[in-house]
Amino acid sequence: MDSETDQLRIFFLPFISAGHMIPMVEEARLFAKHGVDVTVIITQANAALIHNNIDRDFRAGHRIRTHAIRFPSAEVGLPEGIESLSTITSMEMMGSIRQALKILQQTIEQLLYDGRPDCIVADMFYPWTLEVANKLGIPRLAFRGCSYFSLCAEYYVRVCEPHKHCSVDSNYDVVSLRGLPHKIDMLMSQLPDWSRKVTDFTDFMEVMTGAEEKSYGMLMNSFSELESDYEEYFKTTMGLRAWSVGPISLWVNKNVPDKAQRYIHNTNDNKEYEIVSWLNSKEDNSVLYVSFGSMTNLSVTQIKEIAYGLEASGHPFIWAVKKIESKELYCEEAFPEGFDERMSESKNGVIIKGWAPQVVILEHRAIGGMVTHCGWNSILECVNAGLPMITWPVFAEQFYNERFLIDVVGIGVSMGVKEWSDFGQEPKEVVSREEVEKAVKVLMGGGEEVNELRKRASKLRDAAKKAVEIGGSSHVNLIALIDELKSLKNIRNVCID
Ligand code: UDP
Repeated sequence: MDSETDQLRIFFLPFISAGHMIPMVEEARLFAKHGVDVTVIITQANAALIHNNIDRDFRAGHRIRTHAIRFPSAEVGLPEGIESLSTITSMEMMGSIRQALKILQQTIEQLLYDGRPDCIVADMFYPWTLEVANKLGIPRLAFRGCSYFSLCAEYYVRVCEPHKHCSVDSNYDVVSLRGLPHKIDMLMSQLPDWSRKVTDFTDFMEVMTGAEEKSYGMLMNSFSELESDYEEYFKTTMGLRAWSVGPISLWVNKNVPDKAQRYIHNTNDNKEYEIVSWLNSKEDNSVLYVSFGSMTNLSVTQIKEIAYGLEASGHPFIWAVKKIESKELYCEEAFPEGFDERMSESKNGVIIKGWAPQVVILEHRAIGGMVTHCGWNSILECVNAGLPMITWPVFAEQFYNERFLIDVVGIGVSMGVKEWSDFGQEPKEVVSREEVEKAVKVLMGGGEEVNELRKRASKLRDAAKKAVEIGGSSHVNLIALIDELKSLKNIRNVCID
């Protein structure tokens, strides 16, 4: 073990949404498991969601802790406990979250100056941490929690502006991302609006990418064998430094409690055991898992169409549903009459209202595929489990991820969604029950084409496992990065002496 003065100390600053927080906390756990002294700075309600796994690691002897700070609920007019983009129930609350983040910035800055870590790992939404790192004379590693592919595609669109060659009035014009290693065509309407025109977010993206370019490098939840061409493009064409240390979830979550308790309040509801016992009664690869992640809002009409489509397909499914933001109701109130009861009587469908133990579900032998909104974490969790996917992107960089799954690694069946939606908005485009039924039958029906998808997904699962074993690509990267950070620390110490 390193002496106190040699000990590498890293502060992790996860953003307050599930899709950003979960992988960064797992990164923090990964570093702690490799001898680094780790502090995760997080607000109190969020700390309560992640403490199970951190406490277990601490009890196992790793140097890891959370530093919980008070969320300024009263100052910004948010109810107590609403401290995350994954728990806000209206877009008005989004403005309050932004205000709260500004207030928190001062608290966190002070913590960093007082704590004087050797390195800061900060989420994309905290570009101001670059200045703090510079003042402290330490490296900042940036984290976005997305794929290399999406970063490369986003860069290409920003620099080459291929959409400018399209006719102004046709959203459905094809945009070719010709400079990328694969042939990638998208519809203009599938590009994020902030890359097609100037919005508030365009300005923020500039600040954020600027901070990434000036940071020491980026920490990527990916692995070389999955995205080698795009890792290369990122490092050479885009000229940024990056370390692929994923799939992080596969690496750090070794048992059921780790997998089930990544982000929950209540460890006693035993939900995963009921679900697992239902899955145990099903054939291998026979069940479809449906989830749109932690933040997607679907309309009542869309939920009805999904319900009809799933039922008509005849394939067993688990569907993780979340509250419908505009209606303050759970999706069952949007379900066709008797849907819930029919599913539980026929034992053909399990509907999880609220948070699903997704990794536990995906890794069960009975799961044969997922309908996903193409969030990068969900994609990696499917890759870890060797599963093909039905791609149904909604917002953020999800349409790029869909192209990656279909055109690059060939493990996706597209639902054919044409329009990018803004974060928090219910998509206007409605996918019909017939389209849902058709896609589910294709993925779960076992035709020759899908068997090829399954074979490719299995190969990627094996490659993912190897990447995180001793001597695997991600393992080598992590050890090299830790060594490099230690050397930087030593150089700093010598300079100070
Ligand atoms: N997740 C989960 N249970 C749920 C919904 C989401 O465990 O009911 C986890 C999922 O496993 C993934 C993360 O939350 O790790 C969602 O991240 P992703 O990038 O897929 O989508 P986002 O929520 O950021 O849109």
